[in-house]
Amino acid sequence: TPSRSYVIIIGAGVSGISAAKVLAENGVEDVLILEASDRIGGRMRKEDFRGVPVELGAGWIVGVGGKESNPIWELAHQSGLRTCFSDYSHARYNIYDRSGKIFPRGVAADSYKRAVDSANQGLMIQQVGDLSKSNQPSSTLMTPIDLAIDFFLHDFEMAEAVPISTFTDLGEREFLVADERGYECLLYKMAQGFLFTPDGKILDSRLKLNKVVKEIVQNSRNGVTVTTEDGCIYEANYLIVSVSIGVLQSDLISFRPPLPRWKMEAVNMVDVKVYTKVFLKFPHKFWPCGPNKEFFIYAHERRGYYTFWQHMENAFPGSNILVVTLTNGESMRVEEQTDEETLREAMSVLRDMFGPDIPNATDILVPRWWNNRFQRGSYSNYPVNPNHQVIRNIKAPVGRIFFTGEHTSERFNGYVHGGYLAGIDTGKALLEEMRKGMMHCRKCDPPP
Ligand code: FAD
Repeated sequence: TPSRSYVIIIGAGVSGISAAKVLAENGVEDVLILEASDRIGGRMRKEDFRGVPVELGAGWIVGVGGKESNPIWELAHQSGLRTCFSDYSHARYNIYDRSGKIFPRGVAADSYKRAVDSANQGLMIQQVGDLSKSNQPSSTLMTPIDLAIDFFLHDFEMAEAVPISTFTDLGEREFLVADERGYECLLYKMAQGFLFTPDGKILDSRLKLNKVVKEIVQNSRNGVTVTTEDGCIYEANYLIVSVSIGVLQSDLISFRPPLPRWKMEAVNMVDVKVYTKVFLKFPHKFWPCGPNKEFFIYAHERRGYYTFWQHMENAFPGSNILVVTLTNGESMRVEEQTDEETLREAMSVLRDMFGPDIPNATDILVPRWWNNRFQRGSYSNYPVNPNHQVIRNIKAPVGRIFFTGEHTSERFNGYVHGGYLAGIDTGKALLEEMRKGMMHCRKCDPPP
């Protein structure tokens, strides 16, 4: 016989856990969380890389110091999370050309100003609605340094060029998580209040790991039936789906009846961004480590080709680790090739910057978010002026099936705080629906 719960939540990332927490705080404790992988956290994922805890997914608390407080920053304080302030303002003065020379400050400053102006101009065009122009690449962005700065501003999401609510409302400061327990320890902190969590582990039968949901059937009267790949069947009155937008766009989960057209059209309209941090371990440091040297940029004629680098000495002194960030097409390309090929490419770029005598990396770690069937990308990417109806449709419930996840957060999509707040919103919306259902019952009326 299928096991029955009041609510099933699919996915134990930040949004699934925060939705469960809201339900528990409001007396709905008969909740079952089904997670496909063997751990909680989803896109918050710490790995041990040669003895150093590295964050393969979310790495920063973004949006601190503004008019509204960032709830993840508050949670971090409560958990004693170790963080380091990231000062990106110097990155533009650490731009290397292919012969290892650093661009003079004046050249870098001019190029930076051009790129910011061009981004703002693009925004103005979008705001006045002249879409015919906004999609045209700027003809001025052509030299390797311009391309590198354009990548840094847009793909790395710098506040000067990307006027999103995270920066405008929560603040422009960013803090790198540098904690042995990983960013995901915030989720254990959240779960403490309602799941059985001895010694930082979740040992609660209401959380089931390695349960890949493959089918969701919505029955007209008695709720929802969920089937997992290992053949288990679970029933519930309500369901919250917290899987990523990339998973919703894939065929991992089939819905019966199929999700309505308005829903799938909205889901398929969202662009999924792939963002990859490649970690390289060295026998010793050969890069500059003094003040203002944490971030450096490689200017290549191919946009996004091993452009943005960070050393981890501020976070973990003596770690001898470099991180290079790739996005979209470059991420997908690197996911397809072997790690040895990626290591060769990265070494050749580093030798351009630091000369032929630097040591080879002794280890490489390449996360594959795009090919991970439980993720299918890194995060949702809405245009600067999104179509609000599309986002509302992505979030809107279909009968007893509710949706959450960072991609449902109209203001903060793409971020941990977006996922966290989305979970709270969806939990509250479901509570409201339950209340309505009960009122119907009292009147001996079947729930809608
Ligand atoms: P998820 O964390 O994806 O949770 C969904 C869960 O559903 C997953 O655990 C998944 O395994 C599970 N699942 C999927 N399919 C099924 C299925 N069929 N059955 C059961 N379970 C299923 N944010 C920041 O704030 N700062 C950053 O610096 C930052 N950097 C990032 C860097 C990278 C490389 C990535 C990938 C993300 C980054 N983000 C960052 C974004 C942030 O990680 C996400 O917005 C947030 O963690 C999403 O949480 P979520 O609960 O919406 O989704």
